Amino acid sequence: MASMALVQFPLFLNASKSTSISPNTLSPSTKPTRFQISSRQESFLDLTPTSKPEFLNIDLRRHDASCRREYGMVVIGGGPAGLRLAERVSLQGVDVCCIDPSPLSGWANNYGSWVDEFESMGLEDCLDKTWPMTYVIIDEQKRKYLDRPYGRVGRKVLKTKLMESCLSQGVRFHAAKAWKVVHEEFSSTVQCSDGCDVKGSLVVDASGFSSALLDYDARRGQQQRGYQIAHGILAEVEEHPFDLDKMLLMDWRDSHMGNEPYLRPANNKLPTFLYAMPFSHNLIFLEETSLVSRPVLSYAEIKKRMVARLRHLGIKVKQVLEDEKCLIPMGGPLPIIPQSVVGAGGTAGLVHPSTGYLVARALATASVMADVIVECLGSIRMVRGRQLHGRVWSSLWPLERKLEREFYCFGMETLLKLDLQGTRRFFDAFFDLDPYYWHGFLSSRLSLEELAMLSLSLFGHASNPSKLDIVSKCPIPLAKMMGQLALASI
Ligand SMILES: Cc1cc2nc3c(=O)[nH]c(=O)nc-3n(C[C@H](O)[C@H](O)[C@H](O)COP(=O)(O)OP(=O)(O)OC[C@H]3O[C@@H](n4cnc5c(N)ncnc54)[C@H](O)[C@@H]3O)c2cc1C
Repeated sequence: MASMALVQFPLFLNASKSTSISPNTLSPSTKPTRFQISSRQESFLDLTPTSKPEFLNIDLRRHDASCRREYGMVVIGGGPAGLRLAERVSLQGVDVCCIDPSPLSGWANNYGSWVDEFESMGLEDCLDKTWPMTYVIIDEQKRKYLDRPYGRVGRKVLKTKLMESCLSQGVRFHAAKAWKVVHEEFSSTVQCSDGCDVKGSLVVDASGFSSALLDYDARRGQQQRGYQIAHGILAEVEEHPFDLDKMLLMDWRDSHMGNEPYLRPANNKLPTFLYAMPFSHNLIFLEETSLVSRPVLSYAEIKKRMVARLRHLGIKVKQVLEDEKCLIPMGGPLPIIPQSVVGAGGTAGLVHPSTGYLVARALATASVMADVIVECLGSIRMVRGRQLHGRVWSSLWPLERKLEREFYCFGMETLLKLDLQGTRRFFDAFFDLDPYYWHGFLSSRLSLEELAMLSLSLFGHASNPSKLDIVSKCPIPLAKMMGQLALASI
C-alpha cells in the first residue's frame, strides 16, 4: 500500500494568544485602563491582542535523560488528546512519558463543545461557561432554537486537571520536539530535538494535525480534504445584540453585505457564518467561519466579511483580548492502519469531516484506546510489537467506524456543493430532525443504520428546492462515498 506523509500546516495552527479571562465579565486585572481604539482605526483588525501567553504553575516530573528507562507508552504532544491518553493509561498503572516542546504552556485554542459530551466523560467541571440554549439564524426571518446546552471549555482548568492527574500517577514529561521514531521488534525510540532519546513499548503521536511521524493512506489523496477556516476574537465591546443565555452556533444572515455589496457574490457562492459566545454585555467571543471549503477560502476574505458584519450589527470593539486563526483539515486520507506509531486526536483523523469538531471525541476516544493499551501492556502474555499496534489501531478505527466516517465525509462533500441558499435550506431541514439524529450526527455517535435513517428523514424534512439540491448535487458525493465504502471495507 502506498503511503505519504501528511502535508505540514506550519502557518495556520494557530495564531491565538491565551490568557485567563473570566467567562462572565472582564476581571479587574484584564480591564483596559484606556480604550485601545482610536478614531484613526477602521476596524478591530487594527487592534493588537492584549493577552500574554499563559503558563501553568505546576511542578513537573521530568524524564531523566541519563537513565535508560523504557516506558510502557511514550506520547508525543501535550494537547487535549495526548494528555488525556497519558492520564487514562497511567491511571491503570502503565508508566508513561509525554514529550512536548512546552508542557506547561496554556493551550491557545478557544474550544466549544456540547455540554452533554463533557458530562458523559465526567468533565463538566472543565466547562467554564455554559449556555442553556443554542440557536441558529437561518436568514432574516427564521431562527431555530435548539434545546441542547453548549459550553466553552475552560482550557486552563482542563489542562491543569489532566496534568495534575498525570503527575500524581507518575507520568514524566520531556520538553522537546520529537523528530523521528526508530522501531525495533518490541519497542520504539523517539529521537528528540535536544539529542535525547525516549524509549517505550508503544509510541503514540498526538502532535495535532501536522504529523510528520505517521503515514497516510495515499488511495485517498490530500486533494480530497476540505478545510474549515475561521477568524475569532475574544473582545471587549461597547455592546452587542446577542442574548446572554444563548449561544449562537451559526448566523447565516447576509444583510451586512447590503453595505458592502462587493462581498455578496463570493458569499453567495462560498458562504460564511458568525459563531458567537456571549459572556457578558461587553465580553464576547466572535468567530467568522467558513464551515468547509476546497480550496480553502482566503483568510483575508473571512476577515473582510467579519468587519462588515460587526459594523452592520453595530458591534464596536474596544479591545481585542485574544485572536485566533483557525484552520482545520477535514476528511481526506486516514493514517495507514496499522502502522508502528499510533495516532491520537488530530493526527488520527478523528476530526468530524462535516463540522470540524474534535475535542470531545479526542478526549472520549482516549479512554477507549487506553483500555486496549493497558490490556496489552499489562497482560501476562505481554502483547507487544505488531500485535500491539494492530490492536490499538483497531480500537481507534474498527471497520464500522471507518464506514461511518465515509458517511460524514459524504456530508462534507454535500456541504461543499451548496451555495448560501442551499446551505440555509440544508440547516433548516437538519435542525428539524428528531434531536436524537442531529445530536448524534454532530457528536459522531450514530451507527451506519442510524445514519441511513437520518438521510431518509432529512430528505423527508427538506423543502422542495432542497430536495432538488439533493437530487441534483448529491450523486457525485454519493458515488464517491460508495467507492470509499468499498475501499474502506477491503
Ligand atoms: C483555532 C482552533 C480552534 C478550534 N476550536 C475547536 C472547537 O471549538 N471545538 C472542537 O471540538 N474542536 C476545535 N478545534 C479542533 C481541535 O479540537 C483542536 O485542533 C485540538 O487542539 C486538537 O487536539 P490535539 O490534542 O489532537 O492536538 P493539539 O491541540 O494541536 O496538540 C498537539 C500538541 O503537540 C505538540 N507538538 C507538535 N509537534 C510536536 C512534536 N514534533 N514533538 C512534540 N510535541 C509536538 C504541540 O506543541 C501541542 O502541544 C479547533 C482547532 C483550532 C486550530
